[in-house]
Amino acid sequence: MTELLLSKPIVDASLVNLRKRAEILKNNGLIPRLAIILAGQNQASLTYTRNKKLFCEKFGAICDIIQLPETVSGGSFLDAVRTTSRDPLVHGCLIQLPLPEHLKDLELDTLIPAHKDIDGFHPLNMHALMRDAPASTYFCPCTPKGILGLLEFYNINVSGKHVVIIGRSSIVGKPLAMLLTNKNATVTLCHSKTSDLRSIAHGADILISAIGHARLIDQSFFSTKKQPVVVDVGTNFDSDNKLCGDVDFDAVRDLVSAISPVPGGVGPLTILSLAQNLLQAAENNVK
Ligand code: NAD
Repeated sequence: MTELLLSKPIVDASLVNLRKRAEILKNNGLIPRLAIILAGQNQASLTYTRNKKLFCEKFGAICDIIQLPETVSGGSFLDAVRTTSRDPLVHGCLIQLPLPEHLKDLELDTLIPAHKDIDGFHPLNMHALMRDAPASTYFCPCTPKGILGLLEFYNINVSGKHVVIIGRSSIVGKPLAMLLTNKNATVTLCHSKTSDLRSIAHGADILISAIGHARLIDQSFFSTKKQPVVVDVGTNFDSDNKLCGDVDFDAVRDLVSAISPVPGGVGPLTILSLAQNLLQAAENNVK
């Protein structure tokens, strides 16, 4: 029987803990505060940002959305990020991606100080991930952290396993490969130029897809010899405008031992990780 890797039980259990931690901070005179800088009106970004704010409010944190016009100049955008991220009342800060085309070449990596970079993109946070520093000493990128949490919650041990990741973006595939390597998995990181992707996938104990292509991962990615665990990171809309993952869920569910659905799988865990990172950043102020 295929196990469904749902995020809801994880989020529900974690919310209790997040509320407790926020309450302790409040008793120390501090309300965790996230600031999101958003440029333009990208529909998906507006939705993600609203969801982050709603989630913050669920556990007693504040989330400010600094909405800048699509046409904001590079200089004004950088000023807004600097001013916001240096506000002592702000504990965690992030830039909502993607940015409008004319801002894409801006050097952003170190703009938000590492101790407020709860997305985990600052070189110091990336380096800490690379050298496998203790989790409490840096911020791990949210989607990889959420995926690890999902595997841990369902007692899926990655040590010694062959994990095949499809998609090498800087926010998902690459940091995830590092995180899982640190947990003693043997990782193969695949991408659009990988040859013979299917035969690599056939050897996976755990297959993780972060491509951004609706239902591309079909039966041909699975062999009769293995029933891998599948984690679907994709967040896509099909031709009927229905939310779906990279994996053709109905076609493959009987070929795998466990699978995370879309919606209901990885998505909410990214926001949960962000909330955990925000609390970690706020708690660093009272230690
Ligand atoms: P990206 O566009 O930056 O990277 C996509 C990667 O997929 C690239 O490395 C590319 O080489 C690879 N790829 C594309 N087509 C391929 C193919 N046919 N075969 C093999 N590899 C291929 O994407 P991203 O920002 O990492 O996002 C990927 C997907 O994950 C998107 O659907 C995105 O919406 C979703 N996402 C979800 C969450 C979440 O919280 N659930 C978070 C981040 C991204």
